[in-house]
Amino acid sequence: MTEFQISRLLAGLPLPAMLVRDGERVEACNAPAVALLGEGMVGRHPAIAVRAPTVLEALAAASPDRPPQEARMIQRREGQEQVFQVTVSALGEGLVLVVFRDVTEEERAGEMRRDFVANVSHELRTPLTALMGFIETLKHAAKDDPRAREMFLGIMEAEAGRMNRLVGDLLQLSRVEAEERVRPRDRVELRGVLEGVISSLRGMAEKTGDSVVLTGEPATVPGDRDQLVQVFTNLVENALKYGAAGQAVRVSLTPEETVRGPAVRVEVADEGEGIDPVHIPRLTERFYRVDTHRSREMGGTGLGLAIVKHIVSRHRGWLRIESEKGRGSRFQVVLPLG
Ligand code: ADP
Repeated sequence: MTEFQISRLLAGLPLPAMLVRDGERVEACNAPAVALLGEGMVGRHPAIAVRAPTVLEALAAASPDRPPQEARMIQRREGQEQVFQVTVSALGEGLVLVVFRDVTEEERAGEMRRDFVANVSHELRTPLTALMGFIETLKHAAKDDPRAREMFLGIMEAEAGRMNRLVGDLLQLSRVEAEERVRPRDRVELRGVLEGVISSLRGMAEKTGDSVVLTGEPATVPGDRDQLVQVFTNLVENALKYGAAGQAVRVSLTPEETVRGPAVRVEVADEGEGIDPVHIPRLTERFYRVDTHRSREMGGTGLGLAIVKHIVSRHRGWLRIESEKGRGSRFQVVLPLG
């Protein structure tokens, strides 16, 4: 191959690639490889360009008689770990092509998928195990005991309800994710939405002696009404669940000027025990809970804020969470006006 052909070949590859001659001299690098390995590698030994022993072993083992060698390379850059899949192919005449593919995101996504499936299975298994246990008891020990039967059926109903909520939230989450890139088209008046949400949660508030107070002027945003109802239902529900009993949840609508233009801020504030700052960045992760036991007891699925985050992002808005331990929490949703 002429030098010109080599440089055209490398330039035509969209991935970082370098050519090594006789295992000991970097012959050429394309621009992505320069960005990855640094300037001035041409003419030097490949061990200076690439330190990963796995890649150097693959280089040493490369031969035109063998299929290309694969190696994994981990690189730290600006404190972040990057993982590369490196393919080393001998081209003949002492030339070896080394191509680097960044698989960091791919691996992370795979890991998240596996974690998610494990979490869902675990969340479903807990109530299912309880149900199976009670069915067994009803068939045998409690067969002729109407009082025990009544009690067990009540618990079974609650456990089945929990599974039902979890499946409902999972479906909702997957729908919201699928639509995340489609901009909502309708125009939605938020004060009306909030009034509806508050009145639908009145029963829940009354149980703990809480009240929900709404302030602020009507504001209309481009949006999906059902999804916005979901967002504020989840937030007000959380404020009632985790707020202190007998206190007020305050919901307010306030105009806000943002760098991206005029917007409206909806804040849901409670006077509960608040959230330790270490948890705040993770609250919108699926199944992340500060206190798993407490969340379960309250009938929570751990998916509410994940759903909120996706819907808000579909609306090109953002979610802010402010809280101090012992001083309540404020969940703010900022939605652009147009
Ligand atoms: P859950 O179904 O557990 O309520 P969410 O996704 O709605 O799930 O919330 C995740 C976690 O965030 C909750 O388990 C709880 O620990 C915390 N959290 C949410 N809202 C509040 C709040 N208003 N005050 C204190 N903690 C909250």
